[in-house]
Amino acid sequence: MSGIAIGGGMQAVFNMDSLTLTVEDAPHPVAVPGGLIARVTLAGVCGSDVHRVVGHVKDATGRVSFGHEAVGVVEELGDGLNVDWGGLPVSVGDRIVWYAGSAPCGKCRGCRTTGEACDDRQWPLPSAVPNAAGYRDVASLSPLVPFFRVDGPVTDEEIVAFGCALPTAIGGQRRLGQIEPGQTVVVQGAGPVGIAAAMVVSLSPARNIIVIGAPAHRLELAREFGASSTINLDETSAEERLARVLELTDGRGADVVIEAAGVPEAFPEGVSLLARHGRYLLSGLYSGTREVSFNPVQLVLKSARVFGNLGSRPEVGLQALRFVQANRDRFPFSRIVTHRYELGSIAAALDAMQDGSAVKAVVTPRPPARRTA
Ligand SMILES: [Zn+2]
Ligand SMILES: [Zn+2]
Repeated sequence: MSGIAIGGGMQAVFNMDSLTLTVEDAPHPVAVPGGLIARVTLAGVCGSDVHRVVGHVKDATGRVSFGHEAVGVVEELGDGLNVDWGGLPVSVGDRIVWYAGSAPCGKCRGCRTTGEACDDRQWPLPSAVPNAAGYRDVASLSPLVPFFRVDGPVTDEEIVAFGCALPTAIGGQRRLGQIEPGQTVVVQGAGPVGIAAAMVVSLSPARNIIVIGAPAHRLELAREFGASSTINLDETSAEERLARVLELTDGRGADVVIEAAGVPEAFPEGVSLLARHGRYLLSGLYSGTREVSFNPVQLVLKSARVFGNLGSRPEVGLQALRFVQANRDRFPFSRIVTHRYELGSIAAALDAMQDGSAVKAVVTPRPPARRTA
């Protein structure tokens, strides 16, 4: 090689106690046995990062690292590592995608009883530990971090565009079960989770895919990603939205409602939109203590089923990658990425996600420093 990268570069550190974000020097990590070192080329900003930065989610203390949607290039392989989590050979120089945060441990009670809800899963990770978080120049993946080799012409932006929203949508549909021909699906929310859900459902035999959200430019994107109709949340009342859904379903209501709005008020409305025997998937609520009033008899009268959806098995990450690779001519993935920042401007990236101006913000590290030969 003509140039060798030097130094560990920079990393973003968030203090969970003082709610402050800094970008600091980071030591260059060394690959642990069974793990690897990757140079980050692109990292997605997830809404859950924003929840922590503003103090809505307090699931860690002290200095932590963020960025759980990353693409990069393998720089060093630890002893014993030669295949990715899909079983494909992996070498230095290969492009990979990973979802930082450890895989299910396979040993705890949660893992043994559910196969995916690990009690020991740690995220976010302390910043002092070399870790796989994506808001840094160089990441260290432990043997517990699932990663997948990326081949072919798919771009980093296409992969990161939906970030963890795509595994969320794919994993959510697994929980829901099959969508039958002719069924109507309503998606509440037009952020990455809602648009990804509409996109995944659009490959099913559903008759209508109705996305409720705002503002107009997000609904336009939702139509490009498979929505057959959209309803602007800002311009309609709950009664008008119900009337529209009934109109589109011959008075029956939605066979499936997918909540991707992230606010508790969506719940009673979602139940009101359900047809009899409908299924309701809660995919977007991630934090919060706010309560809403709700009459549960509706669930009984409709014989409805409600599913919660958090987390997914590591192989869903591979399914998400394969989905993007197989459908990049069908859907304009990179149009989801509306805002791009360098690592040093990570705070602005989080702001753009928080105020809703960005559908998806991404962070690019600096180009690697090179030693002149
Ligand atoms: Zn996420
Ligand atoms: Zn476990």
